[in-house]
Amino acid sequence: MTRIPFLPLHDINARQAEALQAAASRVMASGWYLRGEETAAFERKFADYIGTAHCVGVANGLDALTLIFTALKIRHQWADGDEVLVPAMTFIATAEAVERAGLHPIFTEVTQDALIDPEALTAGLSEKTRAVCPVHLYGQMADMKAIQTFADAHGLLVVEDAAQAHGAQTDAGRAGALGTAAAFSFYPGKNLGALGDGGAVTTNDAALASLIRTLANYGAEQKYHHRYSGINSRLDEIQAAMLSVKLDRLDADNAHRRQVAAQYAEEITSPFVSLPYGGRSDSGIFHIYALRSPHRDKLQQHLHQVGIETLIHYPVPLHRQPVYSQAVTQSFPVAEQIAAEELSLPIGPTLNKESVHLIAQTINSFRL
Ligand SMILES: *Cc1c(COP(=O)(O)O)cnc(C)c1O
Repeated sequence: MTRIPFLPLHDINARQAEALQAAASRVMASGWYLRGEETAAFERKFADYIGTAHCVGVANGLDALTLIFTALKIRHQWADGDEVLVPAMTFIATAEAVERAGLHPIFTEVTQDALIDPEALTAGLSEKTRAVCPVHLYGQMADMKAIQTFADAHGLLVVEDAAQAHGAQTDAGRAGALGTAAAFSFYPGKNLGALGDGGAVTTNDAALASLIRTLANYGAEQKYHHRYSGINSRLDEIQAAMLSVKLDRLDADNAHRRQVAAQYAEEITSPFVSLPYGGRSDSGIFHIYALRSPHRDKLQQHLHQVGIETLIHYPVPLHRQPVYSQAVTQSFPVAEQIAAEELSLPIGPTLNKESVHLIAQTINSFRL
């Protein structure tokens, strides 16, 4: 039996084994494991890559988002329970970060591309709305121009959840450089993934970057002098060193993902599925290749029988999660339809043409 794993992290990292091992050994030998030169070097490198003046390395993507909202709440004196517009279809972290900052996530409808719908934002507005949090889900960028126009019209800030969008770019600019601040995750499975947890905030706002750094360091601007109630959230030296190595390959890996998407678009002809973005593969970085089918569960089983591993992102939209049961009376039909139909195909940077061909042929052989 063939076996095509969803994302073979071992193979992906093995391509840079020597450089990664050298980086790990260098950190081990340095005797310095936190808040050192490796982290500072990666922060500079990533800020340059994204095109922002500042990058603050933190422990994970959830912390990156939480720290942004906490810092904005302090700076703008937002009240507990003030509101942030969040798409109903995203990973739970987007909404959890808002809550951890003492704010309240308000869910809004998404487009057929699973991106926050600028037209649907008005429905979530209230006197307490302070910000909107577009998520560049699956590596495709939200309509940042329309969102910024809406935000400006209503006095809101824009915070990007760029946890799935390392390197994504449109004519509006690069993901992570377009709002007041952006959060990245370096979870191992992301397009830029560490060999453990990691995250970062990017921003052009020096004061905000500095406040986030303080909050991530127990609220201390100076050791043992705590100005705020903070947390401990650090990108460690080993992970920073790994990420500096892996960042060099990010553009090539993203280009490979776009090629795989183009091959899928060419070879998948099944009438039972629809391709993401109408088969276009010229934009975005395809963190997830989000196929859609009304027969999703059967199709997943059909692929599984041949040894092709697929995943679902995400089976339950946020307003239907038990933890947000207070929102359960709300209905977001597009988000619900995506949750019922989405099927993520393998699209990693080591996936070869033969495997893509086999996956396409297997989808084409699917019958009801
Ligand atoms: C991965 C992810 C996060 C959280 O990142 P962690 O590093 O796992 O905390 C946040 N938002 C989105 C959209 C993600 O995909």
